[in-house]
Amino acid sequence: MKFAEDYFEDDQARAWYTNMVQHVLDHAPACLGGFETKRVPLADDTWDGRVEWKIACPCGSDSGKILGYSLAGLQPSYDGPTVFVTPLAFQCSACEQVIEIIDTDKHGYDGELGHGAATIRGEGARTTFACQSCQHTTFRLVTCFQHSQFDIIEDEPELEPVAQNYFDWFECQASCMNCGTEQSVGDYELA
Ligand SMILES: [Zn+2]
Ligand SMILES: [Zn+2]
Repeated sequence: MKFAEDYFEDDQARAWYTNMVQHVLDHAPACLGGFETKRVPLADDTWDGRVEWKIACPCGSDSGKILGYSLAGLQPSYDGPTVFVTPLAFQCSACEQVIEIIDTDKHGYDGELGHGAATIRGEGARTTFACQSCQHTTFRLVTCFQHSQFDIIEDEPELEPVAQNYFDWFECQASCMNCGTEQSVGDYELA
C-alpha cells in the first residue's frame, strides 16, 4: 500500500498507521451492519484517507430507493443541487426491506463521542431521493468514509477494534438504475 501523503516520523509510526488503515479497509463501519458490504479497491493501491463500500440487501439485491430528508425542505435558504440529510435508509427493490445507512447523530467521530450532529438532520416521515437527470428513484449505492487521521485511536488504544466507526466525513454516492447518472446524495462533516 502507498500513501497519498507520506509524513511519518519513523518506521514504527508508519507501521502503526499502516496497520490502522488495513483495519478500516478490512472492517465496514457498524452503521452498515444491516447490509452485505463489498469494499471498492483503492485506486492505484494508494490510501488517500477514504474507504468506499458498495452496499446490498442481504436478499442479494443491490438496487433500491434512498429514503431521507431533502435539505431544501429543512433549510429554505438552500438553493443548490438536491442534497439529502440523515437518517438515511435504503429500501430494497426486490424485497422492500428498509435498511438504515447512517444517522449523523449517532455515527461517525462526533456521534461516537456523544457530541451529537453538527450536521442538520431530519425527523418524521422521510421522502424518496430522485435522480437529478431523469427523476427515477432506483439506485445502486456506494458509501464513502474518510479517516483523515487516527489520533483518537493512538490516544485510546482500546478503540483499535472499532476504529472503522470513527470516520470524520461521509458521502453517499448513487448511480441511477435508469439513466446511469452518478450523483451525490449527501456528504457530511462528522468531526
Ligand atoms: Zn432485499
Ligand atoms: Zn437517472
